[in-house]
Amino acid sequence: YQKQLQVYRDLPACTRDGASIRLQANLEFLQEAEPARRNGAEGVGLLRTEFMYMARQQPPDEEEQLQAYRQILASFRPDPVTIRTLDVGGDKFASGICLADEANPAMGLRSIRLSLWEQRLLRQQLRAILRASAEGPVRLMFPMISGLSEVRQCRALLDEVMAELRLEGHPFDARLPVGIMVETPSAVFLADVLAEEVDFFSIGTNDLIQYCLAVDRSNEHVAYLYEPFHPAILRALTRVADAAHQAGIGLSVCGEMAGEPMFSIVLLALGYRELSMNSSGISRVKKLVRQWDSHSNSVLRETLLRQKTAADVLRCLQQQLASAF
Ligand code: PEP
Ligand code: MG
Repeated sequence: YQKQLQVYRDLPACTRDGASIRLQANLEFLQEAEPARRNGAEGVGLLRTEFMYMARQQPPDEEEQLQAYRQILASFRPDPVTIRTLDVGGDKFASGICLADEANPAMGLRSIRLSLWEQRLLRQQLRAILRASAEGPVRLMFPMISGLSEVRQCRALLDEVMAELRLEGHPFDARLPVGIMVETPSAVFLADVLAEEVDFFSIGTNDLIQYCLAVDRSNEHVAYLYEPFHPAILRALTRVADAAHQAGIGLSVCGEMAGEPMFSIVLLALGYRELSMNSSGISRVKKLVRQWDSHSNSVLRETLLRQKTAADVLRCLQQQLASAF
C-alpha cells in the first residue's frame, strides 16, 4: 500500500474539479525537513520550535536558531516555512523554562503566556526568525492566543525587534505574514475580531478539541471523549473558516485532524484549502483530495452541520463517502 501511495508524491493535490489544496508538513525536528520535502510537502505549515529547547539546560542562542531556520528554509525553497514561537508548558516540558509544579499546566503559564511573561526568550527567537526571513519566505505564528490583547502585545514586541534589527543593519522581511494558532475557544468566538489584526489563522485542533470539550488530550481515562467529529468542534471549525474567508486572510489546519483522510474530508467540506500534517500522511490525504469534487462541498457541509452527535457525523460521512467514491 505504501508503494502504491508513492505515485501520489509528485502529483498535484487537486480535486477532480480543479481546486488546488495545499498540503504542508508539520516538523518537530530538523531531520524531518528533507524527508517531508521528499514526501511532497509544499512548505511547512507548522515548525514546532520546541525541539531546540528540549533536553538541555541552556536555550539555544540566536545564531543556533538562525542556522536551524536557514537549513529548513533551504530544504523547502521556494515554499514558505511557518515558524511557531515557543509553545512549551502543558504537555510539552522544557527544563529550565517551564514552571515545574502547576496544578493545571494546560491552563497555566504556558505557551505565548510564558513567552510574554518572560520576554527575553521570545525577543531572541523573534530576532532569529526575522533574520531568517531575509533568506526565504517565512511566516511567523504565535501559539495559544486567547484574545486580541495578546496579539497586540506580540505585534508590539515584533515592531520593537524589527526596529532593533534595522538599527543593527540586519536585513529581514518587514512584510512577513504574521498569524496565530486558533486553539482556544475564546479565539474561536473572537475569530472575526482577531482576523482584523493578523494575516492568517492556523487551527490547532489538538488543543482546540482539548479546550472546547474540556478533555485532557493526554489523559487516557477520558480519551473516549476526545472526539474530533463532535458537533461542537465542527461548529467551531466552521466559525473560524467563515471569519477567515470574510476577512480575506489565510487559513489552515495544523492539528492531527488534517492528516487523517476522514477528517480531512470534513475540513475540505467546511472550506479549508490548506492542511498541514505529519508528512507521512501527505500521500494518503492527497489520494483522497484527488478523488474529491469540491462542488459537493456545500451539500456535505450542510448535512454535517445538522448532525447532533459525533456518531451521527461519522455515519453521515461514511454514507457520503460510499456514494462519492
Ligand atoms: C495543536 O494544538 O493542534 C497543534 C498543532 O499544536 P501542538 O500539538 O504542538 O500543541
Ligand atoms: Mg497546540
